[in-house]
Amino acid sequence: MKDAAAMQPILIFDLDDTLIDRERAFSRWVNDWTDHRGLGPTAQEWILAADADSDRPRLGLFEAIVEHFGLPASAEELVDEFYREFPTYFEPDPVVHDGLSQLRSNGWKIGVATNGSRAQRPKMEAANLFGLVDGVCVSRELGTAKPDPGIFHAVADAAEATLAGGWMIGDSPSSDIAGGAGVGLRTIWIARGRRWPLTGIVPESTVERVGEALDLLGALGSVDSGTK
Ligand SMILES: [Mg+2]
Repeated sequence: MKDAAAMQPILIFDLDDTLIDRERAFSRWVNDWTDHRGLGPTAQEWILAADADSDRPRLGLFEAIVEHFGLPASAEELVDEFYREFPTYFEPDPVVHDGLSQLRSNGWKIGVATNGSRAQRPKMEAANLFGLVDGVCVSRELGTAKPDPGIFHAVADAAEATLAGGWMIGDSPSSDIAGGAGVGLRTIWIARGRRWPLTGIVPESTVERVGEALDLLGALGSVDSGTK
């Protein structure tokens, strides 16, 4: 562990629908998956609604799908297949790559804190993110999830960075923004067309897409370790 006074501040990013476009990838996967099984456009809409923007556990989702469409497969098999296939729907995003590289050269450490499963690291691999970040924490591996303070501290430790002077950037009002603010981070909310839903707390900045958040952070200029 380095001397805290010499540590660089951290920018902690959420993964799904922040650094990677999970919504678009899921909709492409649903399209292919329903086509492959000869299920029509109504099935696509039904699955997208049942997914609830990824809030629903995957086993529960596939149990519902198996029952609704009367599929001759077990939900467990379909979950395994999903975890194998879904990461292949992600690809590197030049906007994210350029933005993160610039922020690192400005003196920030970069962390990823994601509430998720065994698909998170393969998705990061497919999006070529590992070379751009200093620390990654996946809730399933850690046993603590956003908005609990533990995962934010764990990411800072993994990146050998300090939360002091750092920011949290994400699309979930409760997990990312309330959670980040709870450990003293400044916050940027990725709205994705939604209105801010919580009372009693607001994000410091609101943007539509991660590219705007990266620009905003880039405009802060260079940071010096121990002085922010
Ligand atoms: Mg998210």
